[in-house]
Amino acid sequence: MSPSLASARACLSSVFGFDSFRPGQEEIIAPILAGEDVLAIMPTGAGKSLCYQLPAIIGDGLTVVVSPLIALMRDQVAQLTNYGVAAAAMNSANDSDESRRVFDLIRRRELKLLYLAPERLARPDTVDFLRRSGANRLAIDEAHCVSQWGHDFRPEYLALGEFRRGLGQVQTIAFTATADAATRADIAERLFDTTPRIFIGGFDRPNLMLAMQAKDSPRRQLLGFLKDRKGDSGIIYCSSRAGCEDLAQGLNDAGHRALVYHAGLDKKVRENNQDTFLREDGIIMVATVAFGMGIDKPDVRFVAHADLPKSIEAYYQEIGRAGRDGLAAETLTLYGLGDVRLRRQQIEDSQASDEQKRVERQKLNALLALCEAPRCRRQTLLSYFGETTQPCGHCDLCITGVLLRDGTVDAQKALSAIWRTGQRFGTEHLVNVLIGQDNDAVLRFGHDQLPTFGVGKEHSRDQWRALFRQFYAGGLISQDLSEHGGWRLTEAGGEVLRGRARIDVRTETLKAKGKSAKREK
Ligand code: ADP
Ligand code: ZN
Repeated sequence: MSPSLASARACLSSVFGFDSFRPGQEEIIAPILAGEDVLAIMPTGAGKSLCYQLPAIIGDGLTVVVSPLIALMRDQVAQLTNYGVAAAAMNSANDSDESRRVFDLIRRRELKLLYLAPERLARPDTVDFLRRSGANRLAIDEAHCVSQWGHDFRPEYLALGEFRRGLGQVQTIAFTATADAATRADIAERLFDTTPRIFIGGFDRPNLMLAMQAKDSPRRQLLGFLKDRKGDSGIIYCSSRAGCEDLAQGLNDAGHRALVYHAGLDKKVRENNQDTFLREDGIIMVATVAFGMGIDKPDVRFVAHADLPKSIEAYYQEIGRAGRDGLAAETLTLYGLGDVRLRRQQIEDSQASDEQKRVERQKLNALLALCEAPRCRRQTLLSYFGETTQPCGHCDLCITGVLLRDGTVDAQKALSAIWRTGQRFGTEHLVNVLIGQDNDAVLRFGHDQLPTFGVGKEHSRDQWRALFRQFYAGGLISQDLSEHGGWRLTEAGGEVLRGRARIDVRTETLKAKGKSAKREK
């Protein structure tokens, strides 16, 4: 007979010392106890580990937990052992004494949980041994690592399907903090033979303040964000190693304490910086996305992005490292057209299949739509994960409000400039045409003779740049990647140009010049 929820509750207090389940835990544990396959999507900090640890403790047999990080395994094994639970890890960090001890425990069927490193999955001897030793459940942590569409693909995770069949089709339960619909379907298909029960936990993290800003002068914007946060610990993500070094230098020069973390650093230095960040207060870790997975520092007070994250999932996961103690934490994400161009180029240049590139492009577009969202940012974010909510009242857009105005005439001017210059120029040249800047290139191409020349003088160069982003986010224009990133009209753009459709744009990107501010009324 399978253990009951009553025994689960008893275990919760007797072993873990908690008096109640967190939201979602009970709903996930019940079908696990009933022997079902489960895919659970719960935000970071929601308490996923307990969902596989508890059934393992009160059930028969051995639960094999696959987890991508040795440090994480070590923490969990130490914690469980501390609770008096028979748990151990099998990974490259074990010396031969430790390995022997673990093997003996498994052979004698004394172990409840075995944490297994992903690289062990592909070893037939490991699978055979575990099957013969009564392994009867497979738990997969960070399950999005199996999906090439997720943001943290681990090739070793692909061996999971084979491993599972090798164990004899054991019950499989998988956990992840981020998965949009596409990634979710991909995980379900790769890890399970039949459709598992899928749980989507509440993604809202009300204590995280969400804010995004168009990048104009990133150093100044970030220093502004950090101004009142001396003494707080935080993370700033940059897309490149050089960017990390550069920004950290700038922050240190400005009197902050910044350290760097990226894959190009010597392992010793990297570990040292990480330890310092975990141990001390008031350190800003300037890092690439190599930093953070499995980092459990509850009092990270802010996370910022100096560059656009890779996708909404990556964004959510990265900002999710702030405020895990439940106290208020701030986030700020900077986005610029250069970031977008780079991401697009990376997608086109990758070896991915056409299908995958299409998914990647969609994800990038979704992220841009979030950046330039016309309504509550939290609402927009949560709707991406399939949750509907009311406006939150404390994101940047709720606080400052987001004013929309009719941008159709501006769009027609820009679209006309794109069309008349042959759909092969980028923003800067087009803006020169619009504001009537007769520089060398404009003259050489004879663009000063176009009827569009100078029709956009009412906006500044920056305002036009922002407008191009809005038109892009609004799907009116697309970028030609084979040429020099020139803008082209999409079908929707054609409709606006011909006056058959209209578009609203955000006004707050357009407040630099008094003239247009008045027009907005
Ligand atoms: P996740 O893996 O979802 O990011 P963890 O499993 O690391 O989250 O859990 C986050 C924290 O919440 C841990 O410190 C854990 O001990 C605690 N926790 C989990 N479940 C409960 C509960 N029912 N009551 C109180 N604390 C809990
Ligand atoms: Zn809001």
